[in-house]
Amino acid sequence: MTELRRHYFLDEYCIIAPKRGKRPSDFQMEKAKTGDEAACPFCPGNEEMTPPPDAVYTMQGVLSEGPSRISGWELRVFPNVFAAMVPCPAPASTEWMALPGQGFHEVIVDSPRHRENPADFSQGHMERLIMVYRDRYVHYSENDLVKYVSIFKNWGKEAGASLSHSHSQLVTLPILPPLIKRELDAISRALRCPFCNIVEQEKKSCRLIDENENWILIAPFYSQAPYETWILPKRHFANLGEMHESEGKSLAALLMQALGSLRSVLNDPPYNCMIFQLPFGYHLNIRIQPAISKIAGFERSTGVYINSIAPEYAAAKLSALAEKMI
Ligand SMILES: [Zn+2]
Ligand SMILES: [Zn+2]
Repeated sequence: MTELRRHYFLDEYCIIAPKRGKRPSDFQMEKAKTGDEAACPFCPGNEEMTPPPDAVYTMQGVLSEGPSRISGWELRVFPNVFAAMVPCPAPASTEWMALPGQGFHEVIVDSPRHRENPADFSQGHMERLIMVYRDRYVHYSENDLVKYVSIFKNWGKEAGASLSHSHSQLVTLPILPPLIKRELDAISRALRCPFCNIVEQEKKSCRLIDENENWILIAPFYSQAPYETWILPKRHFANLGEMHESEGKSLAALLMQALGSLRSVLNDPPYNCMIFQLPFGYHLNIRIQPAISKIAGFERSTGVYINSIAPEYAAAKLSALAEKMI
């Protein structure tokens, strides 16, 4: 099979071409080196190596919102030293069109344990991380300078992580990113929310990997990357701030399942986990793309991605493992 699949609701295409691919075992990665704890700025005891934190969390709540470099934390949030966006940028160039890079860029160290793999987080710890994502999202989405809040996790060097200690990032933008703008335009033209459609249709499809009371986990029909997965809430809501407590708990459970089965099938692959959300008029969704295929000349010159693993095959492999994990 090789087919050009159109995105669910955007005028975008990916090519599903299993023949081009290798079997999944060929994708398996060598174990990443985890680096040295003593030199790791994200490890407890090395708090002096980072800027003062914006917020520090324990399993129970907020330990400190002040700038003190406190220890005894489970999750720690501080400004990125190599920030893409800064609160007070220099004026932008007047050549062509440019805006000042005004915004915020935070690192969320999501575990105090240097070698902990996110797939091994306890259910409680993952719930806590999701609540931290929610808190940081709400904090920045209320800022007038912020048009978009991007929260993502790069796991593994090939996925863009420069340090092996598990962490997430938050970057705000003073504009709506083009991808989100295109989605919003399509949503505004649709009769009903396209994501609600996806939930309804994919729930009945062979691309459903798992579901619980509040969420579904799928290998999307339009999969840009091998073993790409999406997590969508069954209820229509726009962002983590609108999520009920019980939905946060069941999201943690399904996310653990997604990361756990991905690790088993692909031997701890590098991946990007990205939260798509907006203040309103949107349907929150989370996309996990393993970074195991190269983005090369064809993709860069056309915006069309070639994926050598059919999502139907990926769903079967991942769901078989998900069942075993229960
Ligand atoms: Zn560390
Ligand atoms: Zn919806």
